[in-house]
Amino acid sequence: MTAEVAVIGAEHAPEVCALIHAAFGARIPLDPPATALSETIDSVREALEAHGGVMASVGGRPVASLLFEPFDKRLGMRRVAVDPTAQGHGVAKALVRRAEQHAEQIGYTAVQIHARVELPGTVRFWEHLGYGETDRDGTLITMAKELAFTVGTTEADQTRVLGERLAAALRAGDVVILTGDLGAGKTTFTQGLGAGLGVRGDVTSPTFVIARMHPSVVDGPALVHVDAYRLGESAELDDLDLDTALEESVTVVEWGAGLAEALADDRLEVRIGRDTSATGAADRRTFEFRPVGARWVGSGVRAVVAP
Ligand code: ADP
Ligand code: MG
Repeated sequence: MTAEVAVIGAEHAPEVCALIHAAFGARIPLDPPATALSETIDSVREALEAHGGVMASVGGRPVASLLFEPFDKRLGMRRVAVDPTAQGHGVAKALVRRAEQHAEQIGYTAVQIHARVELPGTVRFWEHLGYGETDRDGTLITMAKELAFTVGTTEADQTRVLGERLAAALRAGDVVILTGDLGAGKTTFTQGLGAGLGVRGDVTSPTFVIARMHPSVVDGPALVHVDAYRLGESAELDDLDLDTALEESVTVVEWGAGLAEALADDRLEVRIGRDTSATGAADRRTFEFRPVGARWVGSGVRAVVAP
């Protein structure tokens, strides 16, 4: 089932209104009740006229939609509606991805939604997409996410500078997860990070040890450098007993995807890609930064790393 997803305007008010009623009408009753069911075609048209929205269709049939509403520096999404007959097919995810893309295109660096505490499945859905709680008012949770961004480098020294810049945005307790093939530049990036943090000792691929602690020489956080390549399962990562060190250090995990998530709800995922085609420049790398969780919302990490 491939969904067609598009940013829409007021012309789609009837379909969006119908989707809102179908989706919110199927939910468990909440107290206080959601106001979504009082939406009319006119109220939806007004909202779409003011800020637009996103709609997903499958085979020409509208199956999901949302409305935009700016909240200060974040682009909000509301009335996120998925037709009950179309749930569980990745439609909601595609809808949100398109909304995030749009937010980026019109100059936002963060997005937010409101979720009800009584709907833990919904909260988990947003957490899975990288949203974290930034505020709570009664049963209403504000969840936000800093948008992903990509930076390219063309030589190892540039990658070190990138790591050094990121250091300026980090503080004790932060977790950075680096993924990329062998030779992608994970250790090179971590060297820059260590230099930026002002820590003691050479940052190298920890060959004989799994984790190495570099104490600060500038009264800042230490750097805990973990090479998870040699770790089989996250259970082994738990065995390292990093929990206490985590709070006082910046922790960088190489090859951490799928392993290190359990360490921290808030984390900065960095995916390093390289051009492996025969004609590609051998030293070119792309760094995709994906902030996960409330920690990064409004942190300015993007402005520091990609000025
Ligand atoms: P990893 O830790 O991901 O296995 P390393 O950082 O140990 O990778 O090694 C990366 C290698 O690629 C180094 O030899 C480095 O000099 C080289 N290199 C070439 N171009 C780049 C670049 N743009 N960024 C990072 N490293 C690069
Ligand atoms: Mg390495």
